[in-house]
Parts: sequence; C-alpha cells; structure tokens
Amino acid sequence: MLELNAKQIQMGRRAPDKQAALELLADSLVGEGLVAPGYLAGMQDREVQGSTYLGQGIAIPHGTPETRDQVYRTGVRLIQFPEGVDWGDGQTVYLAIAIAARSDEHLRLLQLLTRALGEGDLSQALRAAEHPEAIVALLQGAPQALLLDSQLIGLNVAAEDFDELLWRGAQLLKRAACVESGFIASLARSEPLPLGNGLWWLHGEQAVLRPGLAFVTPAQPLQLNGQPLTGLFCLASLGEAPRQLLERLCDLLIAGQGDSLSQASSTRGVLEALGGEVPADWPALRIALANAHGLHARPAKVLTEVAQAFAGEVRVRLAGEAGPGVSVKSLSKLLGLGARRGQELEFSAEPDIAGDALPALEAAVLAGLGETVEPLPAAGLASAAGAPLDQVAEVPAPTPGQRIQAVAAAPGIAIGPALVRVAPSFDYPQQGQGAAAERQRLRQALEQVGVDIQGLIETTGQDNIREIFVTHQAMLRDPALHEDFDARLAEGASAEAAWHGAVTAAAQQLEGLHDELLAERAADLRDIGRRVLGRLCGVEAPREPSEPYILVMDEVAPSDVASLNRQRVAGVLTARGGATAHSAIIARTLGIPAVVGAGETVLALAQGTELLLDGDHGLVRVAPDAPTLQQARREREVALQRRERAHAERLRPAVTGDGHGVEVAANIGSGGDTAEAVELGAEGVGLLRTELVFMDLAQAPDQATQEAAYRQVLDALDGRPLVVRTLDVGGDKPLAYWPLPEECNPFLGVRGIRLSLQRPDMLETQLRALLAAADGRPLRIMFPMVGTVEEWRAARDLTLRLRKEIPVNDLQLGVMVEVPSAALLAPVLAREVDFFSIGTNDLTQYCLAIDRDHPTLSAQADGLHPAVLRLIEMTVEAAHAHGKWVGVCGELAGDMLAVPLLVGLGVDELSVSPRTIALVKARVRELDYRHSQALARQALMLESAAAVRALVGEAL
Ligand code: PEP
Ligand code: MG
Repeated sequence: MLELNAKQIQMGRRAPDKQAALELLADSLVGEGLVAPGYLAGMQDREVQGSTYLGQGIAIPHGTPETRDQVYRTGVRLIQFPEGVDWGDGQTVYLAIAIAARSDEHLRLLQLLTRALGEGDLSQALRAAEHPEAIVALLQGAPQALLLDSQLIGLNVAAEDFDELLWRGAQLLKRAACVESGFIASLARSEPLPLGNGLWWLHGEQAVLRPGLAFVTPAQPLQLNGQPLTGLFCLASLGEAPRQLLERLCDLLIAGQGDSLSQASSTRGVLEALGGEVPADWPALRIALANAHGLHARPAKVLTEVAQAFAGEVRVRLAGEAGPGVSVKSLSKLLGLGARRGQELEFSAEPDIAGDALPALEAAVLAGLGETVEPLPAAGLASAAGAPLDQVAEVPAPTPGQRIQAVAAAPGIAIGPALVRVAPSFDYPQQGQGAAAERQRLRQALEQVGVDIQGLIETTGQDNIREIFVTHQAMLRDPALHEDFDARLAEGASAEAAWHGAVTAAAQQLEGLHDELLAERAADLRDIGRRVLGRLCGVEAPREPSEPYILVMDEVAPSDVASLNRQRVAGVLTARGGATAHSAIIARTLGIPAVVGAGETVLALAQGTELLLDGDHGLVRVAPDAPTLQQARREREVALQRRERAHAERLRPAVTGDGHGVEVAANIGSGGDTAEAVELGAEGVGLLRTELVFMDLAQAPDQATQEAAYRQVLDALDGRPLVVRTLDVGGDKPLAYWPLPEECNPFLGVRGIRLSLQRPDMLETQLRALLAAADGRPLRIMFPMVGTVEEWRAARDLTLRLRKEIPVNDLQLGVMVEVPSAALLAPVLAREVDFFSIGTNDLTQYCLAIDRDHPTLSAQADGLHPAVLRLIEMTVEAAHAHGKWVGVCGELAGDMLAVPLLVGLGVDELSVSPRTIALVKARVRELDYRHSQALARQALMLESAAAVRALVGEAL
C-alpha cells in the first residue's frame, strides 16, 4: 500500500545531477529493505525511456517492468532537494518521490498527489519547506473542490414535508458518492437556516467523503417553522467552507434574485446561477484501456500530447462515473483518474473539434499510448483471473443424467427448472437522440415488458407468485421513477442511461432505509429494471419460470442471497464458493437448499433444464430420469418428516443413546433473533456476533445503546447462558467510523482482537455494556482471532479490571480458537481460560491456507479435513485436562456429517444457526458416544476431507 508519511522523507539533500539524485533515492529504498540494489539500474533505464518529471517540481522515479522482481516490498521514499536537480527537458526537481512497486500500486500514489498538483504553484513551497510534515501537508493538504453539478440538483421532487425533502437532498449527495451512510443523520441534526425567498440551508459534516452541495425544490408548496419552503440547499461539508459559492449565493439573494432558484425550472439555470459545473452537451466516445499498468505517467503523457494538439477542450472520465470529467490536457488530472487496464474511458470534446479530436484519441489509445499492449479479450469475455466465470471461455454444458458432486452449503432437496443468471452486458450510448424520441423508445420497451409480465401473471398457478408480478407491474408505472427518468432525458441522456440511472437511484434509496422488506423491493426493482434495459438494448433476459426454480449463478453475494424470494427460488446452485462463505451461511439461515462450488460447467446449462439439488450431500443431478426424481421426492418427503419429527422434539436435550449429553445453542447476529432461537430449541446462545450492533451506524454505539442490545438477548434467554463474542471487525469487515488503512491481505491483517486491542476504549465500552447488562444472568465473553497468549491476557485483564467496578456473579471468559496457533497453544491457554469456542470457519481457512471467500478455492476449505480435526482434538484434550469446556460455533457444528465426529472428539457444545438446532439435537440422539469416539479416532488417521466424509457417510 502506498501512503505518504513524514518518516519517509529526507530533507535538505543535495545532488549535482539527476544520476546522483537517482543513486541517493535508490540507496534510501535499499536501506529501508524495499528493493534490491539492482533496482537502481531499472530507475535509470526508466528515465531513459521517458522522464518521470510530473510537474510542480516533483519527479516520481521508479523501475521498469523488468526490474519489478527486485522489489521486496511496496513503498516510497522522498528526498527534498532545495537547490533543485536538473531533470532534463528544462525541468527542475525539488522533491523526488522514489517508488518501489511490483505492479500498478503507484497509481494510487499518483491519485493522492493529483490534488496537490492541481493547486497553484507548489514547487516553491516544496523547495522552502523546512520539515517533513510540511511536505506531507503540501502534498495532501489541498482542499478538495466542492462538487456541484447536474446530478446534485433535484427540481420539483415529490416530498410531503421538510424531512422528505432533506432526505431527497441527502440521497443526491449519496448517489454522487459525496457522502455515505450516517450523513443523513448529521444533516437532520443541523439547524435549518432560512435564506429568504423560501430558500433554506442545511449542512452536515459527518460521513462526508468529498464536499458537495445539493439543491432540491419540492413539487408542492411546503412550510418549515411557519415559513415557506421552496428550495433546500444541503451541504456536505469537508474542510474549508466553500467561500466562493457562499459569496455568490449572498450576492444573488441581496440582488433579490432568490426566485431564480426557488422557482427554477431547469438544472442548467440553477448551475449557471451558482457557478456549478454546467453539463456539456458534447460528442463523446468510449474506449477501453488496454495498457497493462493502467494510465500511469508515460501513457498519460502521450494522451495529453494528443489532446494538446487541439485548440478546444477535451475531457475524459471513467465510464459510468458521474461528473464532467477532467481535462485530457492535464497530466496530473489524467493520473488522478487512476484508470486501470480493462476500464473504459469516456472522452468528450467541444463540438468544433470533436470530429478530429475523438478519432485521434481513439487511435492513440488503441495504439497503446506508447506502450506495447496485449489486446483486451473481446467484449463480453472475461479478462484476467477473477473475472466472473459466466463470461469466461465456453465450456460444455453438463449432459442429461450427469451427476455433479460439489459442496453442500444449505440442507434440503430442491427440484425445479434451472434459471441460469449470468450478468448480461448492456452496451448503449450515454447520449440520446432527443427527449421525445428516447421517451418513445422507453414507452415501447415498457409495453413489451408489461405484456411479458401479464403472460406470467396469467400462467402462474400460485397466488403468491402472481402477487409479485402484479407488484412488478405497479413498479413499472411508478410516477417517481418516471419523473427521475424524464429529468435525466432532459439532460440529454439516452433512454437506456436515463432508465438505468433512475432505477439504480430508486433502488439505492430503498436499500438505504435498511429495512428487510424494502430491500426485497429494491431487488425487485433492479430485476424489473434489467428486464426493461434488456428490451431497450435488444438483449433478452432469461424468462423466469412460473414454477419455483433453481437459481444458477457464478457466485452469489450475501446481498443476493438475502434478497432472494423464497417463494420463487427453490434452490441455489453456484459455480464458485464454499460452505463457509457468508452467502452460504445466509442461505442456511433462510432455509434455501444450496449447493456451491459446482464449477463453471453449470453456467452452460440450458435455461429450464430440470435440476435435482441435494443440499445435504452437495449433489446435483442434471435432467434426472423419472425414477431418480421419484426417489428424490421420496427422500425429500422423508427429510421433511425427519425435520418435522426433529422439530416436535426440539426442546428435548441432545443426549446420545448411551447417555452422553451435548449442549446445543444458537448462533445469532442480533437480539431480535433470540426469542425465535429459544422457540426453535436453543439451550442458550453459543455465539452472539456483536458486529450488527456496530455496523450501519454513523458512529460507535455508546455504552447505553450497547447495553440495551445485550439486555434484549439476555432477557429473551431467560436465564439460559449467553456466549458473546467481542467485536470482530477489521480486515474484510470495516466500520465506517473506524477508518483503517487498506490491507493487501485483510484476513491476515488487523482484525478481531488485534484491532480491539489497538482501540481498547472501544473494547472497554463494549465490555462495560456487557457486564452491566448481565444483572445476575450467566454471561460468557470470548475474544475472536486470538493468536497469542499475550492477546488473551490483555483482553482478560481489561475485563477483570472492569468487573471490579461492575460486579457479575456468573462470568466466564474464553478464547475463540480460530487461528491454528491458538489450538497449538491450547495446553497453555487452557490453564487460564474458562472455555474455548472453536470457530471452524476461520480455523479451516487459516489451517488450510484457503481464503474462505476465495472464488475458486473455498470449496476445498472443508472443516472435516483431518488437519482441522486434529486441531479440534488438541483443543478439546487440553481443555478437558484442565476441567474446561469446549464449544464449536463455526458452520461445521451444523453439518450433519460432522456432528458424530465433533461429539466423538468430546466437544461439549455445538452452536448452530437456529433453524438447524432441532436437526442437530435429533442427530446427537441417534448416536452412540463410544461408537462416535471410535469413528473420530479413525477420521483423524485419514488423509483428506473427502475420505472423512466417505467414512462418516458409510457409518450412517
Ligand atoms: C468462525 O470463524 O468459525 C466463526 C464462528 O466466526 P465468523 O464466521 O463470524 O468469522
Ligand atoms: Mg471467525
């Protein structure tokens, strides 16, 4: 990761020439262990190929692609040369930034620098700076310009009152990526300021990513504090106040021209009055960048030279991004785009020169901008690794009768036609042929989609599905959607761009409300939006079967699963993914049978192919014959009966036939789930993931808020034990109000207890809230991701210190065993802890070195691997030797094949998703403890997870 800080800077050095300066820079990189000495030759070669002078007295020397293997670690070192160094071409360098980067990470640095490069004359300030902090401030400190453009103006928006208008303004800022969740709350807290003429001003400072000003006017007359409300400014404030804009606004109001804003009928008029970015109606062209390392200094320079040959203005932005773009003539602005290989650049040029300039730019980009480039794969095909499988080279479809063994992700048997959902690529122009023509095109597309949906309504035999389609039809008629669409058309957008923009904005508004039901509506809206877009672009979306179907996808994101309609989706089959991916966890929670990691061939299935999916065994049968289907239906019936029987006995304890008891508890994410878990047979909560209390908030919840959340769980448990995991964020699970440096390898970075110990104040507040909530009830607290004894002791000591202030009778403190080192140290830890809870999801990923969310490898991250079982065995043995108990709270605890082994290994508690509790209890009751112990001993001696699964499968 390339970031700038004062420690990297050497001040006041001297170099007689560029060669000497490069040597000093290379020495400093070598001295810091960033590169091998051979990197200097690469830096010299690079200067020969083209000067690394950037502008403003700054150069950014770095090696060539050939010397990348000389880089040990990514980093930068800066040297100030107050007397200047001649960098050739008449340029003098006062600050050289030597970059050691193995790939295109330096683009990030260039982005950081561009703000500084765009401001006034920096070179003299860099030369005169007396300490490194001053240099950092100069490079990073330039205030960001206020965003005020057409996307931030909403005229005549539907709003019933001030709050709604405020919300619309905040949404515009969010859509423009000026703010994130949490901003609206800070805006709502600020005092509205009347400006006269019915205009009001509000500003918010929290959750602001870049400064921006939105202006909204209501469609109907509104009042605020007894005064008219005809227009509202919402400022996302960051850094200095936008003085220029405020002065302009004051002038306007003093001159009695406030009405031009409060009664504005065009976005352009508002922008002209306020001095915002007026949208240019210029010819445009899109082209994908093929340069291996993106638009770095050398190709960017070539591009500026092409643009500079034209007298008028030429702009560029990343396709799909809002705003007017940046001048192609400015090297620093181009670098600020941070464009990477495969991204599309959208060029636009003043009409007078567009005819010549756009083709010239296109030709230059196609020619590689001075570099030899590998052509990009043809449109629609994937580029490098990590591209969605649904778009990779063609693979043969599975044949009828074929049996595919994949990973069991959520139990149950599902039968139905396949709906293969691959992301269609919609290719369309951004600019339209005039509002009337574009509106007519949308009308036609809507009519066609309306007919399609009507057909589905008429053919479906199920009332609940019919209702969904009726809702879709209502969505197509939504006046707010059409209003937004029209506004976008008025700005010159094509029907496709306007429709896509309007649907996305509406869906984001719904999603922003964090309401489960509204999130489902948002998914419906996006769904219907895609259908219409498909019609507009002539791309047919797969017809949704009228009966419940099996959704086949490349990989399902947790949000996809969460938004699945359980009435329509009978099962989920994915090409990639593993059983502990969060999407699989959600599928289990929702009770949708799922098989994951089946390989890319499933994406080649013909739409409507009958599939039989066995989520217990990770099996898929393609177009099974009638006897197989019959058999599956019987099995499904048996499974259903088994589930019903287990449910009827859910409150009975889980005791094996020979009298060995195991506690079965629930994994929950929020207090509201507790009562249901108890109703489903939970004997306690074995894992309360406290992240939900912290996420989606603008700031860390205070002690009182947390205490209330924890009390809710304890109240619902009514004396049953609660095992709480302290906050487990960081790495892949960030918190908005706790900004952390980006990490190359978040799973091996600052997460879990490592992060909590860096901010003990947060941990202390959480612990205080937990202790205060206990009120005599049994409370167990455990710490996630403990890898060392010191981490455990630090967390324990803090808790015990607080316990002196807030006494709790029944308190146990434990360690989550998620890192192999914790399992290996179990004999030491067991002397001190009260219990262990094994997080097999993480333990498996760290033991097998497979990222649990890895798109292709995670299917192999099987917790039944003998190596993982051995770690579990060691933990249990150590704990029992000291009279301590052990739980398993990872997904493995709910895997029916794993239950006999975990019981046989002596695990005392299994904590699983609430829906699985009854089945786990029933499974334990079927077991014989001695037999399970023998089975576990056998499993430990096997060579692979597959062998273990086969062993247990046979023993069933
Ligand atoms: C685990 O790692 O097994 C666990 C229970 O924690 P999470 O899945 O929340 O990381
Ligand atoms: Mg974990």
